[in-house]
Amino acid sequence: RPAVELQDASVVFGSGDNIVTALSPTSLKLESGDFVALVGPSGCGKSTILRLVSNLIKQSSGLVLVGGKEAAAKELRIGMAFQNPTMLPWLTIEQNVMMPLKIVAPFKQTYLRDRKGAFRDRVHALLEQVGLKDFAGHYPWQLSGGMLQRSNMCRALIHEPDLLLLDEPFGALDQFTREELWQILQDLYLDRKPTVLLVTHDLREAGFLSRRICVMSARPGRIISDEAVNIPQPRD
Ligand code: ADP
Ligand code: ADP
Repeated sequence: RPAVELQDASVVFGSGDNIVTALSPTSLKLESGDFVALVGPSGCGKSTILRLVSNLIKQSSGLVLVGGKEAAAKELRIGMAFQNPTMLPWLTIEQNVMMPLKIVAPFKQTYLRDRKGAFRDRVHALLEQVGLKDFAGHYPWQLSGGMLQRSNMCRALIHEPDLLLLDEPFGALDQFTREELWQILQDLYLDRKPTVLLVTHDLREAGFLSRRICVMSARPGRIISDEAVNIPQPRD
């Protein structure tokens, strides 16, 4: 599992008089297998940190290291779930959830030879866990917001990622469903110990799931506290 490190990483958009600082120089370190929650007011740069780590954007200054390297290695399995699920509308939920198995090594090679439908079974088992067994063949527009978030979580987990980047993944869920998903996520975490960075507004969620909570200040955002979670947890 990759360690993740930001060393005084900052992100500035625009040029000339039109400059927006999305992230002030920020340092943050996750050891291999860490589960860190990132909390803080809207606009402080939490999502920007996730985008840096996933290499969707480049820092303006400083350093971002994933697994000790500057750009996340291709062989690294990364799972991502953002607040607004981005399911491909022309594919069914099953096909959407299966997508990482089609494109991410080492599953990619096996996928084409998967005549017994083992991948399909795996997708169905995960969908069943989140209560969507009967919706595998539905299209995204046929599902409610909460159901889409659950599908989204399945897609982030299906390829057993080494690094999991979650941006308010349960925001649209009712409390019951949310806590069920915490359990599923925790089981997966305990099983495979991926490195996880979770952005959330829910302090109970942060306390339940993570080992460390980093709090960011309002803009310009920086990390103002970084503490281990002391609440006794099932894994201890
Ligand atoms: P958070 O996730 O903590 O709510 P973000 O990381 O999304 O905050 O954004 C931090 C700040 O950077 C916000 O003020 C936002 O408006 C700004 N920002 C984010 N992305 C861009 C962009 N592509 N262009 C201009 N400003 C951006
Ligand atoms: P959520 O809290 O997951 O967003 P909703 O409150 O919108 O769910 O819907 C409650 C329940 O209604 C769902 O869990 C699901 O069983 C059912 N439901 C919602 N949308 C559909 C649909 N398009 N077809 C069949 N059942 C649905």
